[in-house]
Amino acid sequence: MAEYKCPKCGSENIQKCEVIYMSGTVSHSSTTTLGRYEATTEGSSSTDLAQAVAPPAEQDTSWLAVIIFGFLAYCFLDASLIVSAILGAIAFLLGKSSVDASEYNDKIYPKEYDRWRHSYICHRCGNRFLIR
Ligand SMILES: [Zn+2]
Repeated sequence: MAEYKCPKCGSENIQKCEVIYMSGTVSHSSTTTLGRYEATTEGSSSTDLAQAVAPPAEQDTSWLAVIIFGFLAYCFLDASLIVSAILGAIAFLLGKSSVDASEYNDKIYPKEYDRWRHSYICHRCGNRFLIR
């Protein structure tokens, strides 16, 4: 069985990153009144610690943009070869980054997320470590 203490300083004052993140992110809503005008701002804010232990994010893919730019490149093929080439290059670059992003999401992200789920932080020395 794993020992629930910091491997660096031996303190038992440790906390799961997931728990800190959940408890540190608060949603708020505030209304500001300026004369007759009222403005409501809503959002969520996190404490610095909660931000530091935020889970890894999946990367964005832009397949729709690839299709749109690819289609536009095709449309401009007769009108202007230069414009078509530029649009085609944009589609190609977006496609390339989308391939990288989906590869990250498929292979690396699940591991990163799993690591995050088992991450703990020591409140005494600030060490971050894994307990499985
Ligand atoms: Zn420690």
